[in-house]
Amino acid sequence: TDTDTADEAVRATCDDATTCKRFATSKGYWKDPYIQYFVRSVGDRKAPEINRGYYARVQGVNHLLDAFLRKTQCDCQVINLGAGLDTTFWRLKDENLMPRKFFEVDFPTVVARKIHNIKTKPPLSKPIIETHSTDSLLLDAHSLESDRYCIIGADLRDISSLDEKLKKFQLNPELPTLLLSECVLVYMTPSHSSNLVHWAAETFHTAMFINYEQVNMSDRFGQVMIENLQRRQCTLAGVEACQTLDSQKDRFLKTGWEHVDALDMMTVYTMLPQDDVARIERLEFLDEKELLQQLLQHYNICWATKDKLNLGNAHFNV
Ligand code: SAM
Repeated sequence: TDTDTADEAVRATCDDATTCKRFATSKGYWKDPYIQYFVRSVGDRKAPEINRGYYARVQGVNHLLDAFLRKTQCDCQVINLGAGLDTTFWRLKDENLMPRKFFEVDFPTVVARKIHNIKTKPPLSKPIIETHSTDSLLLDAHSLESDRYCIIGADLRDISSLDEKLKKFQLNPELPTLLLSECVLVYMTPSHSSNLVHWAAETFHTAMFINYEQVNMSDRFGQVMIENLQRRQCTLAGVEACQTLDSQKDRFLKTGWEHVDALDMMTVYTMLPQDDVARIERLEFLDEKELLQQLLQHYNICWATKDKLNLGNAHFNV
């Protein structure tokens, strides 16, 4: 059916993210010793502005995520929604920043691929086994549950089943919770993404939601981005929520979140540690600076908080 084709095209986007991250790390933009186990070859060259864009995305998201983990002293849980083949769990383990439990959710077929990689690659499975207390680890084709890491196959548009599965895997609504969605909500209709964000606000009293995705999509450049995806049968069903930074924030403000901020990625880029930015700008020559600016102006990080436990004045000081 059309829905199956559309969902399949959305599932395929996790390979884009992973191959771009794989290429950028092979050039030295940032370190990720685990991504090679999810995509073996470095693949075709990516343009320097793409690599710099991924650098800003990873640094920006990690900055907020790590700030939350430090603020809660890791006495919290993380839920990566539409995690794809993301390697954050292994980074946090190596950096001694592991939350009490790290959850990932994606479509069952994506989860099956991820679990297959984990099972067959010792560098991926070892940290999971090391942080697990018993000999038996719950593992089947569509889910993995260890003490500290859990992967769940579910459709994020089906809230009741999502909620049920997370609770079955010991999600604790009383713990401070960080929810993350990176290039995920944009593939869902505005009502589906609002329902998801609303569920999160209702479920947790102390939480932060980090969302990274497209913004400012109504201009010519945005139209070209949409057309490029459509050529691959991929529809940005949520593009309406990506018109402006205000529309990004509204999704959270209208669903019970207390405090919301949003920055376009060009702004984020200028706020990143400038010595490291200078380092990565030397990695590859970029002729047209405007190209990078245009690209970064079309992505944003939006973060929303609820803070019953008073972890930080209104927005966790980030
Ligand atoms: N967040 C990962 C990253 O940044 O590397 C992957 C990003 S990829 C562009 C989008 C991911 O969202 C895909 O893995 C896709 O399968 C997942 N996704 C999109 N809609 C979903 C839904 N309704 N239910 C579950 N997963 C979904």
